[in-house]
Amino acid sequence: KNILLSVDHIDLNGTSYALLIANDITERKRLENEFISLVSHELRTPLTSMMGSLDLLGSGQLGNLTEQGQQVLNIGIKNAERLIRLINDILDLERIRSGKITMNLRSCNLADLMTQATEEMQSMANGSNIQLITEPLSLFLTVDPDRIVQTLTNLLSNAIKFSQPNNQVWMQARSTISSICISVCDQGRGIPAHQIQTIFERFQQVDASDARQKGGTGLGLAICRNIVEQHGGRIWVESIVNQGSTFHVELPLSDETI
Ligand code: ADP
Repeated sequence: KNILLSVDHIDLNGTSYALLIANDITERKRLENEFISLVSHELRTPLTSMMGSLDLLGSGQLGNLTEQGQQVLNIGIKNAERLIRLINDILDLERIRSGKITMNLRSCNLADLMTQATEEMQSMANGSNIQLITEPLSLFLTVDPDRIVQTLTNLLSNAIKFSQPNNQVWMQARSTISSICISVCDQGRGIPAHQIQTIFERFQQVDASDARQKGGTGLGLAICRNIVEQHGGRIWVESIVNQGSTFHVELPLSDETI
C-alpha cells in the first residue's frame, strides 16, 4: 500500500492541536502509473517516425545540407534520441515494476556479468578519462543475467558521469554464506545526505539540471531498484559530498547455489 502522511493543525477553543493525516493513495498511484505508460506508448510511434525523417535528412539522399543546417539537424537528432531514451526507460520501468516482464533466471558466473558490464562501459570511461577497475568475483548465482548487467552498467555509467577526469571508478564483490554484495565506488561529487533515499525514486535527481547536462532520464536508479527487488535483493548508497559515492547491490544466493 502507498500511504501519504501529512501534518496539519486545528484550533479548538483556543487550543492548537496537531493532526497526523494518513491517506491511502494506492489507487491514485496505480492510475498515475497507468497514465504515464499509456502516454509514453502513444508517444513512441510518432517519435520513431520523426527520428527516421531526421536520419533521412542527414543521410544526404535529399540533397546536401549547409554546415549550419547540419548543426541544427544534429541538435534535433540529439533531442529526439533523448526523448526516445526517456520513453523506453519509462516503459521498461513500468513493465518491471508491474511484473509484466518476469526475470529470466538462470545460473551464471558473477565474474562474467561484472566483466561484461565493465566492457560495455569502457569506452565511456575512456572518453571521460576515468580509470575503470573491476575485480571480478567468480561465483555462481541464479539471476537474470541481462537485467543484472543492465543494473551494473547503470551504476557504472552514473559513477563515470558524476566523476572528474583522472578519477577512478571501481567495482568489487564479496560474498557471505547467504548473499553476494556488488559495490560500485567513485570519487565523484557525492550525494547530499537528505537525497540518499529519494534518488531511487523515478525522476529524482540531485540537481534539476542533471538530466539536461548529463543526458540522463532520472529513471536509471528506479529501474535498478526494481530489478534488484525482483531478485529478492536490495540496493543502497553510502556517500560523502565532494568525496564520492558507493552503491551496493545485495543479492540472495538461492539454496541450490549455496
Ligand atoms: P540519471 O539518468 O539522471 O542518471 P538515475 O536515476 O540513474 O538518473 O540517478 C538519479 C540521480 O542520482 C542523478 O541524476 C544524480 O543526481 C544522482 N546520482 C546517481 N548516481 C550518482 C553518483 N554516482 N554520484 C553522484 N550523484 C549520483
